[in-house]
Amino acid sequence: MLCCCNKTEQANYTCPPTIFLQPLDNFTQQEAMQLQAVLEQRFRKIFNEGFEFEILPNKKLSVDLMNDSKSRYRADKIINSLKKEASNHRIIIGLTHKDVSVPYKGKPDWGVLGLSIHGTYACVVSDFRLKNKKRDYWKVVTHEFTHTACNYSHCPNDDPTCIMKDAKGKADFSNKVDFCKTCREKINI
Ligand SMILES: [Zn+2]
Ligand SMILES: [Zn+2]
Repeated sequence: MLCCCNKTEQANYTCPPTIFLQPLDNFTQQEAMQLQAVLEQRFRKIFNEGFEFEILPNKKLSVDLMNDSKSRYRADKIINSLKKEASNHRIIIGLTHKDVSVPYKGKPDWGVLGLSIHGTYACVVSDFRLKNKKRDYWKVVTHEFTHTACNYSHCPNDDPTCIMKDAKGKADFSNKVDFCKTCREKINI
């Protein structure tokens, strides 16, 4: 069971956390609803339990969330703008069609599919770099959600079929369908 109460002194919350989908800019409410339907179905299977979802009103991405050259949005800045409303019982997933980047490996703008920051309970997921957006977006959302809500790192087996495999800069989620046995056991304790 995915429960975050072991991360807090206060154990009187209800678990599991509620998942708030936060559509950003032109990511529509309807797209968020379609994603929610897919996640409800998939999460029941891979986490062995149902989750409460809520879709938040659209939020504009302000110019100060962009990189220095104003060509992309900074994933870490977006998370920092969402984290105030998030907690271990209120996970917020920012959803965007815009290209997002982070400073990484000495480059100021490393394009990413998504990002989570340890301890913030918020993450952001972009479909900009996905070839097959319809088929693969929920997988990237699941990957970032698992980092964020379960405090779980990457697949220890580096299994190409496992959603928690480190993408290592490649936007290929085509073979990923589920957690591998090891990740499933570690997460569903
Ligand atoms: Zn795995
Ligand atoms: Zn990851």
